[in-house]
Amino acid sequence: MAITSRDFRSLRLDRIGRDFGQTHALRDVTLTVERGEFIALLGPSGCGKSTALNCIAGLLQLTDGTIWLDDRRIDAIAPEDRGFGMVFQNYALFPHMTVRRNIGFGLVTQRRPTAEITRRVDEALALVRLTEHADKLPGQLSGGQQQRVAIARAVVVGPPLVLMDEPLSNLDAKLRLEMRAEVRRIHAMLGCSTIYVTHDQEEALSLADRILVLIDGQTRQIGTPEELYARPATPEVAEFMGYRNLFRSRAETADGGVVIVVAGARLTGTPVQTVGAQAVVAIRPEDLRPTGDGPIVATVELAEYHGRDFYAEGRSADGTDLFFRSPVRVRPGEQVHLDAAPARVLVYPEAGK
Ligand code: ATP
Repeated sequence: MAITSRDFRSLRLDRIGRDFGQTHALRDVTLTVERGEFIALLGPSGCGKSTALNCIAGLLQLTDGTIWLDDRRIDAIAPEDRGFGMVFQNYALFPHMTVRRNIGFGLVTQRRPTAEITRRVDEALALVRLTEHADKLPGQLSGGQQQRVAIARAVVVGPPLVLMDEPLSNLDAKLRLEMRAEVRRIHAMLGCSTIYVTHDQEEALSLADRILVLIDGQTRQIGTPEELYARPATPEVAEFMGYRNLFRSRAETADGGVVIVVAGARLTGTPVQTVGAQAVVAIRPEDLRPTGDGPIVATVELAEYHGRDFYAEGRSADGTDLFFRSPVRVRPGEQVHLDAAPARVLVYPEAGK
């Protein structure tokens, strides 16, 4: 494969920050991205993800910190001299140019010889599987195909790093799944590093080697998808990672775990950090299941059929709302007995929230 990224070992963000007036959009973010790594920047709307990506690209200046490509400091260098590939949510294609000319644009501005441009554009077209569509205009392509043109245009110049800002959010659910696999395949074939901004935890879990969770402009956790899914560092990260059941509880240390009280029932949980007398408990809906003799008694309020199982909401006698999944049909008004495995009941110190 002739499209290869320039050699580099790592990109290092060293305590980077960016203010907009009184707003601290990004604060004290430190991250080392190794060559070949796929990093997701994950966080809710307004948490600073795009600000971080634009600072790395050079479209925004830093207010604090430094950025390094190996031992070269690059945060004062113009975006075009950093040479990173950018893919945006809205594709940003030139509507009056064919697919071929859109993809070759960066090479033309670099004044590459015509034969080289033709060869590299052909390779990029093949990479994103659009060879047959080379002479069409963007308006004649589907959303997924247009996004593949945008990806080809970003990678054709052989960037060491590709930056993607919510590239799949304009696509419908089915196409998003297909393009997710495409993004991962293209990343693997190029051997470049990718930083991918998303607010979708499933997208981050499925694509990334490591995920950085950004909340209020600050790093809340960096870890592998498995670590983030199974062991969110704080209740706030847990909530963002789909732990919908979050409760305050008193806690007692016991053999093999911590005993907490959820909706009036005693449950054994696993402490994520040292827990005192007051705790926050986090359980995913898929880990809270109806069983014949589960300790938490709740009345079903809502049940939706989701194909493989039912998603349901219930309320206990003390008024606690519970979100759970059931492999068998449950109906509103029905009483259920819920339980969760101790390993899947995460217990945090209350101050950790
Ligand atoms: P989204 O997922 O909604 O795109 P985000 O996580 O990418 O959000 P940013 O766009 O990075 O968030 O914005 C972070 C914070 O900085 C927000 O509070 C936003 O209002 C603020 N902000 C971003 N750009 C500017 C700007 N040019 N001027 C002033 N404030 C800004």
